[in-house]
Amino acid sequence: GRTAFPGWMAFPGRRARSAAVRAVDGVSFDLAAGETLGLVGESGCGKSTTGRMIVRLLEPTAGSVVYDGRDISRLRQRALKPLRRELQMVFQDPHSSLNPRWTAARIIADPLLVQGGSAAGARRRAAELLELVGLLPQHLDRYPHEFSGGQAQRIGIARALATGPRLIVADEPVSALDVSVQAQIVNLLARLQEELGPAFLFISHDLSVVKRVCDRVAVMYLGRIVETGDKERVYAAPAHPYTRALLSAVPLPDPAAERARERIMLSGTLPSPAAPPPGCTFHPRCPKAREVCRSEVPLLRVATAGEAREVACHFPEPEPSG
Ligand code: SF4
Ligand code: MG
Repeated sequence: GRTAFPGWMAFPGRRARSAAVRAVDGVSFDLAAGETLGLVGESGCGKSTTGRMIVRLLEPTAGSVVYDGRDISRLRQRALKPLRRELQMVFQDPHSSLNPRWTAARIIADPLLVQGGSAAGARRRAAELLELVGLLPQHLDRYPHEFSGGQAQRIGIARALATGPRLIVADEPVSALDVSVQAQIVNLLARLQEELGPAFLFISHDLSVVKRVCDRVAVMYLGRIVETGDKERVYAAPAHPYTRALLSAVPLPDPAAERARERIMLSGTLPSPAAPPPGCTFHPRCPKAREVCRSEVPLLRVATAGEAREVACHFPEPEPSG
């Protein structure tokens, strides 16, 4: 079955006295077991906030987070416990996300102990998980500082897998790693997903990585999904001007194709989510903006009949012919 995350979510303003800023609005995901959805967009667009709210590391100040038809946004600790088993997270910086005073064994076993597992059982499981992520039994009693970035990320992944989650939110899981290590971790995630079957929400600003690992893509701009669909379709024929601009900046392997293609330059910078522009929030930067874009919010909807793709734009590509 699919797991849906409809509803809208918000996060608090940066300054103590400012009103709540609506960081993510009407964001909704639908993930099948074993499926990977890539969540892409510029930094500051609300990707991480979305991921953290889904796993309930962040509580929205307004709105709700709906999981399996249930509002999980204000559950208390006891009610959260079964959710913690199902929803796990892998972080960008493995070292800062691992407790420096805990051994690998304790880090990996912790989610099991929280669920009420026995110490001996949790340690046994930690040893199995360590092997599963490609580390050795002797790594079990080492501390985070004794590991390379790639090894530390393997421990973070083992911890996320410990409870057998349905969904793992991976927030830029390879962007802090050396390029040579990135491919190893990407391959590891793919293999683990095949063996164990969790769904991944893979958050990344790197469209090349997303192209390699994801089945579907959701593009986020200022806290809203502006385009979502099958990876192949979105990459081959992006329908939203923002998606087109993002993809036009990804280098092509073929030099001739690289020279021939059109670069879409975006003017301006990402506006503050505290003061989003009216109408289509992308209009100040959009090369296709027209009058209606300044006043009317485009809703996420199917642009081409029969296509499993949704776009939030008044003038999606391709333009209707004739
Ligand atoms: Fe550009 Fe208008 Fe589409 Fe927004 S609605 S992306 S401003 S064309
Ligand atoms: Mg981020």
